[in-house]
Amino acid sequence: MAGIVSRSHDLGETLGNVVDLVAKRLDADVCSVYLIGSDLRHLVLSATVGLARSAVGNVRLALGEGLVGHVAERGEPMAFTDAQTHPAYRYFPQTGEERFTSLMAAPLRVRGAGRGFTIGALVVQTRERREFSEADVELLDTCAQLIAPVVMNSQLLAVVAGGEERRSRLLQELARSGVASDGTPTVPRERERRVRGIPTSRGIALGPIHFLGDTIDLAEAEYTPNPDPEGELRDLAGALENALRELHDVRDDVGDRFGPDFAAVFNTHIQILEDKGLVRRLEEETRSGGNAFEAIRKVVGEYAKMFAAIEDPYFRERGADIQDVGQRVAARLLGVRHHDRPLGDGAVVVASNLLPAHFATLDVEKVAAFVTEHGGPTSHGAIFARALEIPAVTGAAGILEAARAGESAIVDGDTGTIFLSPEAKLVAEYERAQHRALVAVEHLDALAMRPAETRDGHRVALTANVGLLSDLRLCERHGAEGIGLFRTELLALVHRGFPSEDEQEQLYQEVARALAPRPVTIRTLDLGGDKAIPGLQGEQEENPQLGWRSIRLSLSHLEPFRAQLRAILRASVHGSVRLLVPMVSAIEELRRVREVLEETKRELAERGEPFDPELPLGIMIEVPAAAVIADALARECDFFSIGTNDLTQYTLAVDRGNERVAHLYDPLHPAVLSLIDRTVRAARRAGIPVSLCGEMASNPLAVPILVGLGLDELSGVASAVPVVKEIVRALELGSAAEDARAALEAATVREVRAIAAERLRRTGLLEHPDIGEWLRRTVEDGRQNGVS
Ligand code: PEP
Ligand code: MG
Repeated sequence: MAGIVSRSHDLGETLGNVVDLVAKRLDADVCSVYLIGSDLRHLVLSATVGLARSAVGNVRLALGEGLVGHVAERGEPMAFTDAQTHPAYRYFPQTGEERFTSLMAAPLRVRGAGRGFTIGALVVQTRERREFSEADVELLDTCAQLIAPVVMNSQLLAVVAGGEERRSRLLQELARSGVASDGTPTVPRERERRVRGIPTSRGIALGPIHFLGDTIDLAEAEYTPNPDPEGELRDLAGALENALRELHDVRDDVGDRFGPDFAAVFNTHIQILEDKGLVRRLEEETRSGGNAFEAIRKVVGEYAKMFAAIEDPYFRERGADIQDVGQRVAARLLGVRHHDRPLGDGAVVVASNLLPAHFATLDVEKVAAFVTEHGGPTSHGAIFARALEIPAVTGAAGILEAARAGESAIVDGDTGTIFLSPEAKLVAEYERAQHRALVAVEHLDALAMRPAETRDGHRVALTANVGLLSDLRLCERHGAEGIGLFRTELLALVHRGFPSEDEQEQLYQEVARALAPRPVTIRTLDLGGDKAIPGLQGEQEENPQLGWRSIRLSLSHLEPFRAQLRAILRASVHGSVRLLVPMVSAIEELRRVREVLEETKRELAERGEPFDPELPLGIMIEVPAAAVIADALARECDFFSIGTNDLTQYTLAVDRGNERVAHLYDPLHPAVLSLIDRTVRAARRAGIPVSLCGEMASNPLAVPILVGLGLDELSGVASAVPVVKEIVRALELGSAAEDARAALEAATVREVRAIAAERLRRTGLLEHPDIGEWLRRTVEDGRQNGVS
């Protein structure tokens, strides 16, 4: 066979020879070759005997689409006795293939490192129903292996003749695939590689890479406009209308599957599509250029560029929303549906950006982890991944280049590391870690209903931090005793604006009812800093973390603040609600909040609306100044909640979001502990409760010290409640208090960590058969438990 095919260097002739020969050898009615097209994403029918000749060059299917696309993507030969009844089967009327029953296909692979590089597929079909034998499959695969290098050489020759752009694109692809242009392997592909990104959602996953590449490439897609300019405008209007309808359906569907906060994002997309300015721009461009697709490309490109140029990461990430909407309209214009290739179980999904639409179109149950080239931890997609407890790494620059479809990968959502083609030793290590985590979580969840009480009978309330309604499920599962911190700004971020008073009231009411009689601590909007809402704060500030944020913003935007207070007060009759104010740095702020609260109560009383007149008003202690004047503040509020995420950043002058100084950020610094201690003592003297709701509350290493400092309540990520409980139950208050005193005397973080580690060791938990190893991992690397 190799002899026959290598006689010709003309691609068409080579392929013609191949299909004739293979059809004869396998006694098949059809033999076809599909080759990957110049866009490197589609297979094009390039030669055939048995199918209509006119279909050659005209049948295109995406990698992963139909049985042939599926085989090319998987890189393995497959046989289908009743091809047409297979769920992945796709029918192309122009081929006349309805006459054929059975199908067998093998990928055309050229040798590269690892599993090589697919350039197309070799397919045979039979009219009669035929059960292909293993020998048949092997024969076809052997033919494919023999043919592939010859076909590629002919392709390369055609490329050389075909111009610089195409040539460099193909060469680039070959380099990515570990194949030199002469067909020999370059970089060995099975070598373990590592890509780093931002740890966005905790957890470990192992699985095959699945690319989400099915969206329409606006820069590449081919489109023929309607010759009639009015017709083109009508097509645009139709595409907009269909996309809008589709979005409404998606919103409802996602709302049903995951809850209303997830659905809210699609309201944002609906708003974008209904935006008159955007629609007008699209119409103008279509009118002047006569090409609606071009108009979408241009206008979406302009918007995306505008967003990309903005420094604020929150704004920047909103550019992805516009692109998502643009894709949807373009798809409707081309008459194709957004659809994703079938996902295998446990896939590591790799995409350019994590879009809300992925949660609508993907079978999320099958996703083991998400990895994205772009984007940060505040994107909507990132928020969703966390809420669904799917490990995720974002901003993994280079992942799209480095990874191969189907290649095995480890995603470490705790550190933001992705290992591609990991060595067996590393896989075993991570499998053990994963198993440990699972056993530990199961063990702990099974005991979720026990009280968090030290061995000498001291109770500590273990509550959860929540941000989206879907988090409530986790509170129940992990046995949280209430909500110590409800971050309401997440809703505003998801909504891209403030929900109305009624919408907020509904939501707070739902949470209060669901948790009753357990307490729900609702924090007023903590916007600004790294949680900015477009258009609200105006210009970018020089030092946003020290700027016009949080309660400062609320007190100068009284209307939305009052609306939120009304909503919280109205919800207070449905459960045990507490009101928490963030970022207080001076007593005047607390007094002003109380004044506004009293005015709001009077307003509601006049309206005849019921509310809890005794609604407790607490403040976050997260600015060092507040800790220093804690005695004065304690006399004028009902409870304290210590926010160590910010308290650490402000005490140590270390930006909590800046990776360059991350090694200096440690809430176990003796200076931070000293401010916590001061706050707890002030609360004691005034007789008010004090809780701690920074990420530190979920860090096993910090727990003994925090208990020893005398905190009444620890509020952290819901999934950490059981392990914190296990630790509390293994402690004695007396010895924990001694440790805390020693830690306060310590000069360095290292000393504090040593004291805490020693206490954990003494509890015996590090040797616990179910959770010991898992705990040791946390203690050894001393990381923060959770992503803040
Ligand atoms: C904190 O600062 O510790 C806190 C809990 O609030 P946030 O992380 O929302 O700023
Ligand atoms: Mg804070």
